[in-house]
Amino acid sequence: MKQTYDIRTIKKVINQNFTFSDLSNRFKGVDSSTGNIFCPFHENHDTPAAKMYWDEDRGIWIIHCFGECHRNFTAYDYVDLILCRKYQKYTSPYHFLKANMVEYQLNWQLELYQKEVNEEEIGYFEEKKNYIDNVFSETGNVTDFIERLYTA
Ligand SMILES: [Zn+2]
Repeated sequence: MKQTYDIRTIKKVINQNFTFSDLSNRFKGVDSSTGNIFCPFHENHDTPAAKMYWDEDRGIWIIHCFGECHRNFTAYDYVDLILCRKYQKYTSPYHFLKANMVEYQLNWQLELYQKEVNEEEIGYFEEKKNYIDNVFSETGNVTDFIERLYTA
């Protein structure tokens, strides 16, 4: 069967169900007061270039690399970049989920998050449509309308 779930849905399911410590022993016993770790996403052996911390707002664990990567990573990124691409333990993040979650739990979560993603999508298109309608009613002629859409 063809996989029908959006990548954003897969991301949400991984980030809600797995912490970095679930994914690798290297994250166990990290000093919780500093969260300092060697960045797993680039060659980093001398001084820890990254910090692992709990993001209160998003309700997920984040690794922020201050060094070479200079970005945030979530558990999903570890699954995708390290377990799938680097070590090829799984053919895709979706296969990682299939191998590591109870089937009915995985299925209802995929359904739930896919619904959320679809609703976000609808919201985004409504917003776009309203914006276009507004610009058109403000400009009144097609030339100005197109100009505004592409330069705003
Ligand atoms: Zn890094």
